[in-house]
Amino acid sequence: MAENRGTVLFTKNMKKDYTILAPSMLPLHFRMLEGVLNSFGYRVRVLETSGKHIIDKGLKYVHNDTCYPALIVIGQLLDALESGKYDPGKTALLLTQTGGGCRASNYVSLLRKAVAKAGYGQIPVIPLSFANLERHPGFKLTVPMVHRMLYAVLYGDLLMTLKNQCKPYEINRGESEALASSWAERLSRELGRKNRISYRKIRENYKSIVKDFSKISRTDERKIRIGIVGEIYVKFSPIGNNNLEDFLISEGAEPVLPGLLDFCLYCVYNGIVDAELYGIRRLKAFFCKILYRFLIKKQKDLICSITENSNFRPMGYFEVTRILPEGIIGLGTKMGEGWLLTAEMLEFASQGVHGIICTQPFGCLPNHIAGKGMMNPVQKRHPDINIVALDYDPGTSRINQENRIKLMLSDAKSRAGCN
Ligand code: SF4
Repeated sequence: MAENRGTVLFTKNMKKDYTILAPSMLPLHFRMLEGVLNSFGYRVRVLETSGKHIIDKGLKYVHNDTCYPALIVIGQLLDALESGKYDPGKTALLLTQTGGGCRASNYVSLLRKAVAKAGYGQIPVIPLSFANLERHPGFKLTVPMVHRMLYAVLYGDLLMTLKNQCKPYEINRGESEALASSWAERLSRELGRKNRISYRKIRENYKSIVKDFSKISRTDERKIRIGIVGEIYVKFSPIGNNNLEDFLISEGAEPVLPGLLDFCLYCVYNGIVDAELYGIRRLKAFFCKILYRFLIKKQKDLICSITENSNFRPMGYFEVTRILPEGIIGLGTKMGEGWLLTAEMLEFASQGVHGIICTQPFGCLPNHIAGKGMMNPVQKRHPDINIVALDYDPGTSRINQENRIKLMLSDAKSRAGCN
């Protein structure tokens, strides 16, 4: 067992026959990301398990005060290890790390402690991070890999945006979900092929996806639109937020979510902000500027493919979103989701959503400041918007949460004149 200062390493020899388990967050995006990683010779399995037993497993191995997203992903990974489906002698674990200042950067050490406590101390834990936090000889993020991962994110954002605009209105139940799922499978295979990736083909795929969703038969009912913002994991993950999107649909609303690309753009843009505000890491800022321009161009192309081929509403344009919080919160506020959280509330409010749910792990200080703490200034600018902040933790009563959402929906419906 290769080790470096007590850390079990994922070696080159492990690459060909080890299964790497990873927790899910955004089901469509992560299915494609799995395809990309596997095309580079890994055997990654993104876990799609759910249920209360996962939270219970997390509670068994980490303190109940631990950040809720960490508790869930650790519970999901340990549940898989204990399921008997994977050989512990041939399994590794993969976890994303932001490398930022909050406890999210300590998820890996928390996971290692939990894994050792459960008796699997020999299992390598690999942090997936752009901050180069730890080197494992058998796992490396390369430029071609990251390039393909970017397209998985763009495709995922497109599928999620269109699915959410069709599902609440579909006449044939399940059609939008099935279409999004079949496209995700197909794109995962395409992104996983060895041949060179063609941007022309990617743009053709955007067009075909938009056209396929346009063909879904929908009612012309008027429903209220509810934006979901907050900490990245509880905002996106169905286990983290008790299937919030489906709950909103079942209550006669249309959920609206920001894209994952916005979070990537926020991280890159912060590299530029650091140099401008504090005069630090100028070389990094130079590369961030190049990358930022590249990503913005990709987002623009994606938005155009929606507006030119359909009546669907596209995702927000980050160049506009990032200036919205001016005068409310400074760009130096970048712990957790930081100013992006406030910017997304303002973006939704200016796009005419009828209400916003701000999702937070209980006790998550940075996101409470940028989320709950910014509700007043956002409402001052948009007096008609109803915002409700929801805390998530293992002890939260689901009924209480649902009742608060129902209250907000009924207020939003009466203001919008919908039934
Ligand atoms: S900022 Fe919030 S989500 Fe991130 S580690 Fe801290 S408590 Fe968890």
